[in-house]
Formats: sequence, structure tokens, C-alpha cells
Amino acid sequence: MKVLVLGSGGREHALSKKIAESSLVTKVYVCPGNVGTLMEDKCQNIDLEDLDDIINFAKSEEIDLVVVGPEKYLMLGAVDRFRENGIKIFGPSKKAALLEGSKAYAKEFMKRYGVKTASYEVFDDFEEAKGYLDKVKYPVVIKADGLAQGKGVVICSSKDEAEDTLFSFMVQDLFKGSGKRVVIEEYLKGVEASIICITDGKSIKPFVSAKDHKRLMDNDKGPNTGGMGVVAPNMYVTEDVFEKFKEDIMEKTLLGIREENLDYKGFIYFGIMITEDGPYLLEYNVRFGDPEAQAILPLLKSDLVEVILKTLDGRLDECELEWIDGASCNVVLSSRGYPLSPVLGDEIYGLESIEDVDIFISGVKLEGGRFYTNGGRVLSLTAVADNLELAREKVYKEIKKIKFDGMHYRRDI
Ligand code: ATP
Repeated sequence: MKVLVLGSGGREHALSKKIAESSLVTKVYVCPGNVGTLMEDKCQNIDLEDLDDIINFAKSEEIDLVVVGPEKYLMLGAVDRFRENGIKIFGPSKKAALLEGSKAYAKEFMKRYGVKTASYEVFDDFEEAKGYLDKVKYPVVIKADGLAQGKGVVICSSKDEAEDTLFSFMVQDLFKGSGKRVVIEEYLKGVEASIICITDGKSIKPFVSAKDHKRLMDNDKGPNTGGMGVVAPNMYVTEDVFEKFKEDIMEKTLLGIREENLDYKGFIYFGIMITEDGPYLLEYNVRFGDPEAQAILPLLKSDLVEVILKTLDGRLDECELEWIDGASCNVVLSSRGYPLSPVLGDEIYGLESIEDVDIFISGVKLEGGRFYTNGGRVLSLTAVADNLELAREKVYKEIKKIKFDGMHYRRDI
């Protein structure tokens, strides 16, 4: 069968590679793909941007299955559009994608179905929101309702800071509409975990848990990034935490999806905070995480395409997900100046000498047979081993072979 993967990052590289490994698959088109997907077996990049053009391509090539990587296509209603055109596609409908697209919608959904989450209020009016600041404990968390490229959440330690944040979101309209409505939320103290699940809308199965590292520098210092590395499984997700997650968050979310008749056949990402009082849900993402995919998928023994096809048939309950008994460590290499103003175009040396670990490309250009940096996050390496310590050792040993001007990575993933 022929599969089309939408997206261009490290996550889509990891997805395409896993999909290409399936014995059911003869060809994987990646739109637009990247230098990494260009070099994978069975994979071919397609340079199309417009959704109509992509749909026409899928029809004329008789694509059997489309898998969506990034949220932007999901928010645009890509799943609904492909389905209207009779093309099989894996991902949530536009309506279901609101679980990520609107934080107010997501919080109200959580409340309706008793999903354990921080207490909150939603505001559309600046003066009312400001008035509410007298009633909250500090720190308090202020969130822009819509997508804001990871910049729409501010933890405010004082009322002054909270007022300034509300002003820039709601009055100055920093996020061009996305912050006109805000969620003001109780601050939770704890450690974070990412748990990605797959659902067919009737049942839901969790993947191995993961721990992202969002800050740029070691020991969680420096600015927030798209993610500097991931380990899987997450050591803080003990059996007890996992059971509580399933009971208080995952199953209740499934109940909501069913009750509201959401057309949801896809990956669902739960960003959780593990507190002294157990796990709380911070957010849903309606897709696989990046770089979580690069750490989780190499641990999956099952044929992902088989699982996706069963999910699309509403038979996820028949799937048994099998995992490698071990751990993975994924470390991201970023370019100088990332995340504020990354410097691009530096030659990358040493990729050919990497052994025994996966290379996932995010931002790399290939010119005249040479590789150059072409994004803030350039590439990442994932090692799989019997335990996390061994996986770490393996990945850091290989990283030493790669060099480019301004190369940065965390030493403590
Ligand atoms: P992402 O970039 O992961 O998509 P986002 O912008 O959609 O993030 P959230 O994940 O809801 O927003 O929040 C971003 C970060 O803010 C979280 O990863 C967490 O560190 C912190 N955070 C969010 N809500 C809370 C809370 N209630 N208490 C403490 N920290 C929080």
C-alpha cells in the first residue's frame, strides 16, 4: 500500500521511517518531508503546500492512507477534507482538534467529564479578568486561548506581572486574536510527563510514557524551546501514577470523546503534571509530540501501520501494542542563536560515521552532497538500550562525532 505523511520535521521523519518499516507498505510519500525522509527506504518527498493540491495528488496517486504530523493541517480541517474526497486519513476531525486549538474549550471539556485538571476561569473581557486577579493565589498561570507557538502560557509570580500579561494578551493583542480570550489557571507544582495514546473514539491505548526537556540549557535553565530531548519511559511515571492517569484522565477523556460524538481516530497527547496529589492534565495535543515521537517510536515493536488501519476500522481493542523492553534517549542538536534567532547555513560534519543510533532530521539542507544547518532544531539522535543509562551513554558517544559551528545540545537529557 501507498502512504502519504504530512509534515516536515523530526516527528514526521520518525513517523515515515516507522511506517516504511511495515511489510504492508510499498511506498511512503512525505509532504513536504525533509532531507531525512529523502534518504529513508521506500520514502519520497513531495513538494506541495496547498491542501487542495495535496488532496488531488493523493487521489491521482491512489494513496491508501494519509497520516498527519503537525497540528496546522488538523486545525485546517484536513481530516474532514480528505474524508469528503474518499481518502483514508488518520487524525482527528476539525471539531475534535479544538481540544488543542482552544484551551478554553479543552478546559471546559475536562470539567464536563471530570478529567483531573487545575481549577480555572475563562475570560473574554480584560476588566473582568483583571478583577479576578484579586481572588487568586500566586504564582498563577495565564494562557492565551488559541495557538501561540508555545509562547501563550505565562506563569506569573505577582499580580503586577499577571496584569501586564493580561494587557499584552487581551488589549495589545500580542497573538493576533489567539489571546483575546484567556484561561486563568491554578499553578501546579510537580514534574511533567508526556503520555501519547492512540484512540479510535471507542477505546484508547497508551504508548510508553516520555519526558521532554523544554528548556535550552542543562538543569532546566534558559528559554523554552520546542524540546531539546526526550527519554522514554518517563521515570516519574510509576505504576501508581500510570494507573491514576488512566483512571482520572485517560478514561474520562475517552468518555467525553464518546459522549460528544467527536470523530477522533488518531494520536492524542496528554501533557501531565505529576503532583503530590497525583497526575493532573495540563493540556491535550491532537497529534504526536515532537520530539516525543523520535524517542517513543523506536521502542515500538508492533507494526504501526497495522495498528493505524485497525484504529481506522474501529477495532483498536483488538490490537496488542508490543514494546522493546528497554529505554530510549533522544538528544536534539540545535543551531547557534536558537530559539530566538537561529543562525542557519553552517556545514554539518560527521553524519556518515554515526553507528547504531537513529538520526532524525529536523532542519538540514543538502547541497552538492554536503549537509548544512537549516533550522533552529537541526537534528536529533535516538539510542535504544536495555536501560536509560546505557541509552544515554550510547547517544552521547555518537554525538561527539557530529560537528557544526554553533552546535548546541543539552548534556543532561
Ligand atoms: P506546548 O508548547 O507544549 O504546546 P502550550 O503553549 O500549548 O505548550 P501548555 O502545555 O498548556 O501550553 O503549557 C506550557 C507549559 O506551561 C507546560 O509545559 C508547563 O510547564 C507550564 N504550565 C502550564 N499549565 C500549568 C499549571 N497549571 N501549573 C504549572 N505549570 C503549568
